[in-house]
Amino acid sequence: MAVQLSLGSNLGVRRGNLEAALARLGQLPETTLTRRSRVYETEPYGMTGQPGFLNMAAEIETELQPLELLDAIKTIERRLGRRHTERWGPRIIDIDIVLWDNLVLETDTLTVPHPDFRKRAFVLIPLAEIAPQAIDPITGMTVAQLAAQPDLHGRILRLESGD
Ligand code: ATP
Ligand code: CA
Ligand code: CA
Repeated sequence: MAVQLSLGSNLGVRRGNLEAALARLGQLPETTLTRRSRVYETEPYGMTGQPGFLNMAAEIETELQPLELLDAIKTIERRLGRRHTERWGPRIIDIDIVLWDNLVLETDTLTVPHPDFRKRAFVLIPLAEIAPQAIDPITGMTVAQLAAQPDLHGRILRLESGD
């Protein structure tokens, strides 16, 4: 199944954290990293006064089940040194599952599609690079359509230029 992910980092060697996360995602069982977007510098979201974020999108092809992938993602985040799990706070790495084909899932630990991705420029603009025709099963809109909305939060500042 093709699964679209959003990655972010605003602590440490941010670009290195993203690359390390991609490498580990590609090494998961029954999983191949199939696409990756460019890396963007984006406006801090949620808490203000924290370091700037780098954000990107990636696509994997996986036979894992959704909760298996979520577990694997949490392990990767921990292994890369993520400790503070404050929502929207500074973090070495954040990996969110954005879309999983036409799956709609709501459990205590996993909601797919990601509940807030439709309003986030820092998720949609990178994702539109690699999966513009992917469809949000809730609204029926494509990623390209969602990314073109005028009132998105978490603006893109520029393409990443190096840490
Ligand atoms: P947001 O989800 O609004 O971007 P966040 O990424 O900062 O906030 P985290 O602290 O990383 O939030 O994650 C909190 C919990 O969200 C995770 O432990 C996970 O169980 C849950 N979660 C629910 N849906 C998803 C999803 N689609 N992708 C990743 N985690 C999810
Ligand atoms: Ca997130
Ligand atoms: Ca997260």
